[in-house]
Amino acid sequence: MDYKPGLFSAADPIAQQAGSMIDPFGRAVTYLRVSVTDRCDFRCTYCMAENMTFLPKKDLLTLEELDRLCSAFIAKGVRKLRLTGGEPLVRKNIMFLIRSLSRHLQSGALEELTLTTNGSQLARYATELAEAGVKRINVSLDTLDKEKFHTVTRWGDLDRVLDGIDAALAAGIKIKINAVALKGFNEAEIPQLLRFAHARAMDLTLIETMPMGEIDEDRTDQYLPLSRVRQTLSEQFTLTDLDYKTGGPARYVKVEETGGKLGFITPMTHNFCESCNRVRLTCTGTLYMCLGQDDAADLRTALRASDDNAYLSTVIDEAITRKPKGHDFIIDRTSQRPAVARHMSVTGG
Ligand code: SAM
Ligand code: SF4
Repeated sequence: MDYKPGLFSAADPIAQQAGSMIDPFGRAVTYLRVSVTDRCDFRCTYCMAENMTFLPKKDLLTLEELDRLCSAFIAKGVRKLRLTGGEPLVRKNIMFLIRSLSRHLQSGALEELTLTTNGSQLARYATELAEAGVKRINVSLDTLDKEKFHTVTRWGDLDRVLDGIDAALAAGIKIKINAVALKGFNEAEIPQLLRFAHARAMDLTLIETMPMGEIDEDRTDQYLPLSRVRQTLSEQFTLTDLDYKTGGPARYVKVEETGGKLGFITPMTHNFCESCNRVRLTCTGTLYMCLGQDDAADLRTALRASDDNAYLSTVIDEAITRKPKGHDFIIDRTSQRPAVARHMSVTGG
């Protein structure tokens, strides 16, 4: 493959298609999430089994191929790109890809280049990320208790993550903390997480666990409906509904006592698919049109079939015509099998 990173030239058919990705329900696809690796240096109990089999490295797209695919989506109208995983910052030479993609920020083709990270490598990368134009990131943090952090991540060290958060804030990167609400685990600690985040001008978003992939635990034991969390929080805090949107599925409230924002991502109790503007690409070039469905398109074959992007563009267009109306996640004692077999780390959270 003789691909050289650069903007698509005006003569390239793909460059003339900005805004062309409209799905059958009239939703414009403007947001691409890319899982750059399925590997991770943590094993969060709700995300992975302790013993995971990862993809052979040879199946992964190269960083150049990921760049070419992302650039094709940007040329077709994607305005926001989020790198995720697995843990994006454990992918070897990830800064090469981030620096390369940042040319689309400079050209104005891309509005935002961001990532979701567990924070373990942030202290090392914060300055470089800021220099590459990354202005905002999501950091996942479910507890501020060192022991519990080790329990839920199996392999993680809380202090490293807190150092990473400090480094990113010092580099001028805005942070949103994501916490998965887990019954009987961090339920009582959510007010503390909220105060911690808001004291550092970080928003906090709570997420309901989703039934993705086999894990070692029973998801029914973990699942905590956010309606219940909101109810409990409103006994301590004044929560005012906001119209604020980040292009994601969270619904936000302002916490009057702290002045910060609190988001709720409720795939289980509230279906947010009507405003879905995103598709997800895995590190092997598989495109999922929905996080909660199995239908997918193989972009790796299309990418490798030709140096010219015309065929790739056709395959992407065809995939967008198959974007489903929504997911149908269920967690209860009668449906023990996950809604989709792949783990969140494959498609990227
Ligand atoms: N490793 C990075 C991290 O943890 O931020 C990025 C990938 S991780 C899969 C992205 C997000 O998905 C994290 O906030 C994580 O808590 C969340 N997540 C993972 N498995 C989940 C599940 N089954 N249900 C809900 N959220 C999940
Ligand atoms: Fe790794 Fe993120 Fe999954 Fe935790 S949630 S195991 S940090 S990919």
